[in-house]
Amino acid sequence: MSEQTIEPLVVLGLGANLGNPLETLAGVLKEIGKLPQTELVAVSPFYKTAPVDSSGPDYVNAVCAVKTALAPQELLDELQRLENLHGRVRPAGVRNAPRTLDLDVLLWGSQTICTSRLVVPHPRMHERAFVLRPLT
Ligand code: ATP
Ligand code: CA
Ligand code: CA
Repeated sequence: MSEQTIEPLVVLGLGANLGNPLETLAGVLKEIGKLPQTELVAVSPFYKTAPVDSSGPDYVNAVCAVKTALAPQELLDELQRLENLHGRVRPAGVRNAPRTLDLDVLLWGSQTICTSRLVVPHPRMHERAFVLRPLT
């Protein structure tokens, strides 16, 4: 009998408000689909939202669902690599700074993760309408 692993559905949040957010989000979705051992399962519509606790141009946001055999920290490494690839800079001491790309892990199936680098479910996801809309 062949062994089967059932991968949980992982929900990612995407956001951008610098550069060309539409192009960035469309491009990064393709790249997420090409990550090792990862399959892009679903993508929400793109939403335009005003910055939360911040200033700057409106955001374009979306959520997507993936199935992956990567471990949570490994996926976070890949997502941070993609953020950097798209020119993300992190000004020291500035919270919610405008950014070319933000990729958050919102849900990892029904698992709870709490490490120094990764807290899932994302503690602030329920404050963000673009996250809730596609899930309802
Ligand atoms: P918010 O967390 O409120 O959405 P942010 O996305 O602007 O804020 P970042 O500067 O992008 O925050 O990330 C800061 C750190 O958060 C990252 O280096 C990462 O290690 C950590 N982190 C903790 N939980 C998560 C998660 N669920 N998804 C992505 N990063 C996370
Ligand atoms: Ca975020
Ligand atoms: Ca983030």
